[in-house]
Amino acid sequence: MAHPPPRPAPGPPDPRRGIPPVDVVLAHPAVADDVARLGRARALPLAQEVLRQARGGHLSPTQVVDDLAARLRARTVPGCTRPVLNATGVVVHTNLGRAPLGEAATAALLDAAGYADVELDLVTGRRGPRGAAVQDALLQAVPEAGAALVVNNGAAALLLAMTALAAGREVVVSRGELVEIGDGFRLTELVESSGARLHEVGTTNRTHRADYERALAGRAAPGSAGASPAPAPADGPDVAALLKVHPGNYRVTGFTSDVPVAELAEVSRGAGLPLVVDTGSGLLAPDPALPDEPDARSALRDGADLVVASADKLLGGPQAGLVLGDADLVERLRRHPVARALRVDKLTLAALGATLRDPGSVPVTVARRAPAAGLRARADALEGVLARHGLAATVVPHDGRVGGGGAPGVPLPGWAVALPEDLAGPLRLGDPAVLARVHDGRCLLDPRCVPPAQDGLLLAAVLAAAARVGLGGEGGSPAAGGHPAG
Ligand SMILES: *Cc1c(COP(=O)(O)O)cnc(C)c1O
Repeated sequence: MAHPPPRPAPGPPDPRRGIPPVDVVLAHPAVADDVARLGRARALPLAQEVLRQARGGHLSPTQVVDDLAARLRARTVPGCTRPVLNATGVVVHTNLGRAPLGEAATAALLDAAGYADVELDLVTGRRGPRGAAVQDALLQAVPEAGAALVVNNGAAALLLAMTALAAGREVVVSRGELVEIGDGFRLTELVESSGARLHEVGTTNRTHRADYERALAGRAAPGSAGASPAPAPADGPDVAALLKVHPGNYRVTGFTSDVPVAELAEVSRGAGLPLVVDTGSGLLAPDPALPDEPDARSALRDGADLVVASADKLLGGPQAGLVLGDADLVERLRRHPVARALRVDKLTLAALGATLRDPGSVPVTVARRAPAAGLRARADALEGVLARHGLAATVVPHDGRVGGGGAPGVPLPGWAVALPEDLAGPLRLGDPAVLARVHDGRCLLDPRCVPPAQDGLLLAAVLAAAARVGLGGEGGSPAAGGHPAG
């Protein structure tokens, strides 16, 4: 907002004189209906913001009404989310609904929208286990798991595991893994809301095997007579499980250490306790491009008894939580009353099943692996057309990110088209809405997460936004349009 006024006074008349008063704008026939629908109290601040933009020289006075119309439209489509072109380069974008579904998953959603065989075995005509096909697909993808369960999201998977295994008892966890997962929600509070008590060990940056062993020493043994040499003191810790969490959204670097799953599994097995691993990202198998990202197969192979994860991060499916691992433990979770409150609907099951059938074609994976050369070609093509329309665009190197889904700090090398920063707002209000990355005073459009088939849509949205702020050929510069809107 620290921009200087657009043009000094001598010469042409000040274009800002063409800016209409707020009441005139709100009464304009092009917006009056939407103003009435939204209510004047909610429309007024939008109009004031548009006029502020115009006074600051960021919007041509001739575009004031159009811009307000777009802002009102963005607020008045009742009960609908609006599609957004993700030009940020952030693949799993928390504010854009995380993973976009691919064609197969989208088609599966439509198929499941009507009646579907969610709890029916079509061969026998009898009732079947809910979501059996998805469980089969999960077990095929993760053969190390004895059973699988799908719940509402990653947090639900962890909550259910803690509720069913450790309510009223203690869970041993490293202090370095007690993260806040977003929007103010903390794993500590989530686990405690299950009724389990956290038994924290180690420090923020370093936790050792001995820390876990010390926590288990002298605990009240769960009825395994003879297993512990000294009888457990009555007031000793009553530990029910060990928990290992992968802090997916940040990275501790420097003087750090944690205990790998394989070693922790020795400790938990020695104590006869289950080891629950929250991998977060939902990666099912190792990915060489993400060497630091944990996956379900490796964790189970290393001795985890249960793995919990999100389905809409790196797995690229619908919002869901996965529980994979020991068949008896999974069954305990499935039979727990809370499971019913966390169960997924048929749409989730359908989209998840389709996602698992063809993991390589999932948009998250495609975007994550998009080769830089292809992104460069698309950025060049966009820049070429924009230049022909008189828009100053440059192609610049730009690293994408995996995003809230994990792999913090891992760059995804690519390219972006850099445009004036003032375009970012109008792009968000366009149809379709476009979310760009605003960085260093520029508006960056990274094609990584835009399906190539929608490049034309992106181009049209940029030209329309440029016209609205008076950039490029179609709209002329703000200084050129001096007459009142309308
Ligand atoms: C994302 C995440 C969660 C929460 O999963 P949701 O699907 O957002 O509920 C829990 N634990 C870890 C480690 C995560 O990364």
